[in-house]
Amino acid sequence: MRIIFMGPPGAGKGTQSEKLSKELDIPHISTGDIFRKNLREKTALGLKAKQYMDKGLLVPDDIVVAIVKDRLREPDCRKGFILDGFPRTVAQAQSLDSALSEMETELTCVINFKVSKEELIARLTGRRVCKACGATFHVKYNPPKQQGICDLCGGPLIQRDDDTEETVEKRLDVYKKETEPLIEYYTDKGVLITIDGEKDVDEVYEDLKGAVR
Ligand code: ADP
Ligand code: ADP
Ligand code: ADP
Repeated sequence: MRIIFMGPPGAGKGTQSEKLSKELDIPHISTGDIFRKNLREKTALGLKAKQYMDKGLLVPDDIVVAIVKDRLREPDCRKGFILDGFPRTVAQAQSLDSALSEMETELTCVINFKVSKEELIARLTGRRVCKACGATFHVKYNPPKQQGICDLCGGPLIQRDDDTEETVEKRLDVYKKETEPLIEYYTDKGVLITIDGEKDVDEVYEDLKGAVR
């Protein structure tokens, strides 16, 4: 299965990717996670991406596309993959199309998670992530067993720099302008499946499994 997860920030893409990638045993490729890892390791890429991420803006297409192309060439992607948060612009989608056709393969489907703006804001402002392993929690909807501590690795939970109310508004605007046009792009290709992302995590996951079956 070669799947794209689309949807605004906070729609639950990362949460659902984790579950499905384990179940299908295919890699979860999150461009946001790649940038955050580079930032933690203070690489040139991380420092460059940070300038955009902190403002709620997209990292330039050429940088993101180069990273994803490299990643898709790794052997573990032969059995399939979940792309989470990529593509985010029509130009990125076109580059992905040519990369896949060079690899003589194609997309299985694009899952579009639909969630209302009020819910997105509640999810993003309450999101907490593990500083050490990147696992995602929510202060209300998915609290850790021990406050402030990651269930998986015991690392400290922090708020992402871009999950403040002001940056969240900007990211939602950027989504509307730059990423939403992809709904039409993939509808025209006949691969788009829209899922109600507003339900609770387990219900969304059941719908998701039904959709990719
Ligand atoms: P995305 O990757 O689309 O930005 P995340 O998976 O990180 O979204 O989810 C955003 C926040 O909302 C996280 O704090 C997560 O725990 C929480 N969350 C995810 N899915 C749901 C859901 N179905 N209901 C309530 N909260 C959710
Ligand atoms: P969320 O799902 O909560 O929006 P991500 O972790 O996917 O967050 O992305 C965080 C930030 O990383 C984005 O706001 C953007 O700056 C950058 N980013 C991630 N993926 C892309 C992409 N495909 N194109 C451009 N920028 C990206
Ligand atoms: P520049 O215009 O400064 O050369 P690039 O767009 O080539 O910027 O890339 C910005 C940074 O990201 C550079 O430090 C480059 O080494 C790094 N970079 C580019 N592609 C990748 C990749 N696939 N994996 C890791 N780092 C990358």
